[in-house]
Amino acid sequence: MAAHLCTSQAVTFELQCIDPSSRGRAGVLHTPHGDVPTPVFCLVGTQATVKTLAPRDLLALDSRLILANTYHLHLRPGAELIARMGGLHAFMAWDRAILTDSGGFQVFSLQDLRDLDDEGVTFRSHIDGSEHRFTPERVIEIQELLGADIAMVLDECAEPMNYAYNVEALRRTHLWAERCRKAHSRADQALFGIVQGGIFPDLRAESARVLSAMDFPGYAIGGLSVGEPKAEMLRILDIVVPLLPENRPRYLMGVGSPEDLVESVARGIDIFDCVLPTRLARNGAVFTLEGRLNLRNAVHKEDPRPIQEGCRCYTCQHFSRAYLRHLIMSREILGLHLNTIHNVHFLLQLMRDMRAAIQKGDLAAFRQEFLARYRVADAEARQQNRQSWRLAQGLAPNRSRRGSEPSRPAS
Ligand SMILES: [Zn+2]
Repeated sequence: MAAHLCTSQAVTFELQCIDPSSRGRAGVLHTPHGDVPTPVFCLVGTQATVKTLAPRDLLALDSRLILANTYHLHLRPGAELIARMGGLHAFMAWDRAILTDSGGFQVFSLQDLRDLDDEGVTFRSHIDGSEHRFTPERVIEIQELLGADIAMVLDECAEPMNYAYNVEALRRTHLWAERCRKAHSRADQALFGIVQGGIFPDLRAESARVLSAMDFPGYAIGGLSVGEPKAEMLRILDIVVPLLPENRPRYLMGVGSPEDLVESVARGIDIFDCVLPTRLARNGAVFTLEGRLNLRNAVHKEDPRPIQEGCRCYTCQHFSRAYLRHLIMSREILGLHLNTIHNVHFLLQLMRDMRAAIQKGDLAAFRQEFLARYRVADAEARQQNRQSWRLAQGLAPNRSRRGSEPSRPAS
């Protein structure tokens, strides 16, 4: 039905209220595949599936927006095949909203980057070594074939600390953003711009100004939370967010730890995505209001309690920590599924709670209370998690460029 209403603009953003106690915003993204209340956490479905969850599970969790990875789907099974199968929504049997990234993050993370110039980037597939080329026009063509509700421009993800490289990468990123905008033609799909510029306030401000002038229906902030101190990421948000148009949605890419979500929502971010909840769950780590819990620890061996007292998710309503630990230790598939359900519910509920706090005008109090209780995972645990993931992907260690824990390729 909604598709018939959206003739000129695929996705419209309705800003409903701004919290007087912070810069938090509540709104609704209207898409051809349903309304998405914001702030929203977008689950990552790298290979057109949120790992271990069927669409019926996602509906039960009331997930409204899913991200699929252009790089992965281009390599396998191919965007043309997905288009012949009716597009991504039909292919994966998901009727709600979908976002696709541009593939830039994966390509610039590859060890085997072949060639980079103003025209585009050539790379080798991590699957079979075959050579591929992404240009702004090709990336838009692929995303139009996939047919998500929201598509992203191709950007160059530079090392965040290198000023000279960021100047060069930003020039190319802006060039590519304009070319993507010109190439994009699907009326039922919105194309978002991506602000880059590393950790440098002047480059970030320039990027926000240049992209705002291109008048995208939404703006992402990329290249943040790549291992720099958290204060650095928040400082950049404080600079960039006020420079973006107020009536357009703002999307912080690759961020998904509970404390980062709370801090960023309070700074006016509307959309997030990250593999963290699903990937942690498969490693046996689950979120609680007190912080992360590792179910592999022996302390849970005979614990009859649910992961989180009072949690309304299916897992917490039926299963003890002792049983979930047993499943993980026995490498049973059900354990991956049940842990994922809890972690996804935890983050989606956190976003709903923040939205309610914004509507009541007291997000500052919510933030203070949440952060006082939530014990942040230490840097060592984060680093270990990041490195083991990179090795499993066949990527070079310690080169993650977006996402406090690598966020895009693997869910
Ligand atoms: Zn639960």
